[in-house]
Amino acid sequence: MTRLLLVGPPGAGKGTQAAILSDTLGIPAISTGDIFRTNVANETPLGIKVKAIMAKGEYVPDDLTNEIVAHRLSEPDAAEGFLLDGYPRTIEQVNELDRSLGKDGHALDVVVLLEADIEDVVARLMKRAIEQGRVDDTEEIIRHRMSVYTEQTAPLIKLFDERNLVVRVDALGAVDNVTDRIVSALAGRGLASA
Ligand code: ADP
Repeated sequence: MTRLLLVGPPGAGKGTQAAILSDTLGIPAISTGDIFRTNVANETPLGIKVKAIMAKGEYVPDDLTNEIVAHRLSEPDAAEGFLLDGYPRTIEQVNELDRSLGKDGHALDVVVLLEADIEDVVARLMKRAIEQGRVDDTEEIIRHRMSVYTEQTAPLIKLFDERNLVVRVDALGAVDNVTDRIVSALAGRGLASA
């Protein structure tokens, strides 16, 4: 069983690949973005708290995010493995995840970095915003999300590299091709069952 993280800039296709890999590997995909969006849509107390933060392209505070993930990881389906999409994104989140996995003698097995050029992913997200009529997904907000990623999340890759956990995968191209690249990178580490 695998404890896997999917990392990469907004628009790199983490959500798409997470859903496919979850099926292929038989582990739950846990997306903090999806959890927050569902709460916003249902106007829960959490959703009401995070709505404006998300609309601005900022990160939800670490304590709130950590609490939600800890709760999700304590569910039985995550006991033997999981795929985290969009978490951890800050050093505090990494520390908290290490601590909570460590309690049970667990640790991350691998970090899949979906690599993409920032201009390519900005173009991708702007196209999607137009196609899906998401008028509040402006270029300015998309670029702000990229800079938050570059400042807060990209530096974590160095830390995961030091732990020798990172496999790098080119995120551009057809969905199937990207999946194949990920599966073979995982197989190279003895991790993919497919
Ligand atoms: P993207 O990959 O485009 O940034 P996500 O769906 O992963 O989109 O996340 C959407 C939003 O949810 C983020 O912009 C942020 O506000 C919030 N969010 C998701 N995951 C985290 C996290 N680990 N820490 C803080 N905020 C998060």
